Amino acid sequence: MFKIPKTVTISGQTYKIIYKDEITLDDMECDGLCCPGAKEVLINSQLDCERTLQTFAHELTHVIVAETAISRMLVMNNIDEELFVEVFSKGVFDFLKGLK
Ligand SMILES: [Zn+2]
Repeated sequence: MFKIPKTVTISGQTYKIIYKDEITLDDMECDGLCCPGAKEVLINSQLDCERTLQTFAHELTHVIVAETAISRMLVMNNIDEELFVEVFSKGVFDFLKGLK
């Protein structure tokens, strides 16, 4: 099984992967959160293995969007980032899951 790293570096920007008991955004509980300002990815520590990896894949995709021209591409084409991440991260998840 793929082991989630402690940090990820995209376009020279290093994000820390941090596990927390509870993550909220606008009073809503969530499995994970990507904070480009703080260069942090938060993952809920209460999730099972599969959901933790799904969440990592999702938040990693947000990091890639934030740190590459994809963010500009999405805005220029009026594509919702959450929708893009939701769809694209499924491929990332399958890839990570297949790693030994
Ligand atoms: Zn998201």
